[in-house]
Amino acid sequence: MKPSDQKPHVIIRHCDEYDPERIREIIREGLEILDLRPRGRTLVKPNLVMAGEGFENAHTRPEFLEGVVQALRDRDEGEVSELAVGERCGITMPTRHTYKQSGAEAMCKRIKVKRYFFEEEPQVEIPLSHEGRLRDYLFTPEPVAKADFFVNAPKFKAHPWTTVTFGNKAYIGIQDDRHRLIDHDAKLDEKIADLQYIVQPSFLAIDAIIAGEGRMLTPVPRKLGLIVMGNNQCAFDAVCCQIVGINPFTVDHIRMAHERGFGPLDLSQIEISGDVTLEEAQKRAEGFEVGLVRVEKYFEGTNITAYAGPPPRSEGKDYCWGGCPGAMEEAIEILRQVDAELDDKMPRTHVIFGNYQGDIDYQEGDQVVFIGDCAQWRGQLGDELVSVESLYRHRSTLDPYTAESEDALRKFAKVAGVMRKSKNKSHIRLTGCPVSVTEHVLTLGQLAKATDPTRDLSAAFAYLQWKGAMGLKALVGHRYQVKGETERGQAAPTDLVPVKPNADADNAAE
Ligand code: SF4
Repeated sequence: MKPSDQKPHVIIRHCDEYDPERIREIIREGLEILDLRPRGRTLVKPNLVMAGEGFENAHTRPEFLEGVVQALRDRDEGEVSELAVGERCGITMPTRHTYKQSGAEAMCKRIKVKRYFFEEEPQVEIPLSHEGRLRDYLFTPEPVAKADFFVNAPKFKAHPWTTVTFGNKAYIGIQDDRHRLIDHDAKLDEKIADLQYIVQPSFLAIDAIIAGEGRMLTPVPRKLGLIVMGNNQCAFDAVCCQIVGINPFTVDHIRMAHERGFGPLDLSQIEISGDVTLEEAQKRAEGFEVGLVRVEKYFEGTNITAYAGPPPRSEGKDYCWGGCPGAMEEAIEILRQVDAELDDKMPRTHVIFGNYQGDIDYQEGDQVVFIGDCAQWRGQLGDELVSVESLYRHRSTLDPYTAESEDALRKFAKVAGVMRKSKNKSHIRLTGCPVSVTEHVLTLGQLAKATDPTRDLSAAFAYLQWKGAMGLKALVGHRYQVKGETERGQAAPTDLVPVKPNADADNAAE
């Protein structure tokens, strides 16, 4: 069974349990059908955004990752110079922690595969020159830049910022925090499209055995019993979108990647095969809850009232889908996981984003939190006339060369300082662009006097390991960031032909 022509090919397979040997067999068959063999520096990128108690469905499962790695070994004809797994987990947490918590660490050791914690590798510069780019260069970990055969192995999930997270969106994990947070705002879709120029996968396999609905860090598990594989990221995402009933042209980061020449979205240009038809897969995913819920709606019926004005006019958007509002939605769900009484404990609280010009339904004793650098408001809170000015700095003033890291310790210190200074004040001002999920968790947790989600000391241990490893590397001349030209592997994309915007949107299958 070989692809019938040069169309990108997506394979949908049934797999109803996390049996590494069964997964290995399915993935190996996928690689055979796609006529793919790993070569050179082969790098597998799972989604390990977060792991541990409460986050079991947030990440690519270790059994799945094991199946992918072993299938690649099965297909190796001696052309592989290095086989490794690499990831940068969600911001502020050390990737060592999520490897350990997810079970990936133990699995990698058992099957003897190298693993990279991307934040501990040199960050190298990738120049950009395409039309519509947000900036002229990006930084990525060296193993990504040097990959010859890149395998994207994400988790099939909903996402609050980007509707869904499949292949394209998982690229947010090929940047370390300080580079990742630049443009992680109203321009997140554009940023994800720009990241595609760093590397393209030769092969994709998504863990949709148990998928995640509603959100990305604490998704609701949804058994789909599927493994989807492919040889083109846009075509792959298009089929995954179709499985959950979404037109891929309506998912901005996927549409943008398509328009820049990374692959088709129209099903007529994609070959689909496998032992599960697209229609059968759609039936399994019927009613799948995706992300992208405005923050006002998300908090309806709770003690939190959200007010979202537009981000700065220069962003050209009426809502900041890629920044603070979505981070807050993720944060409240984390707190709900660790404290079942969170909603009852939460006092009446108003959270304000962007340039909000309306009223705040304030009563004496309420908590009021202005979130993000772009928050603006003027009005009465009880007897006090409050004026909150925007602190937003245009993205052109931010430079990846000079971006500074804000790790978990700094976030703790920042929020502690803000809470201390806000005592006996009418409101709290949380700055940042974006304000991270961690800062939201810490702030809301303190307001509700909720169970402390940071009580698990294993993250602190991983933090010390990370800092220790970097200290030792520095002693032998390791530089965190390497400017200028860098060596690129064969997985670097070349010969892209941009697609005329909307040229085939009308033909898109609904
Ligand atoms: S401060 Fe937050 S809401 Fe405002 S533009 Fe930045 S990320 Fe978006």
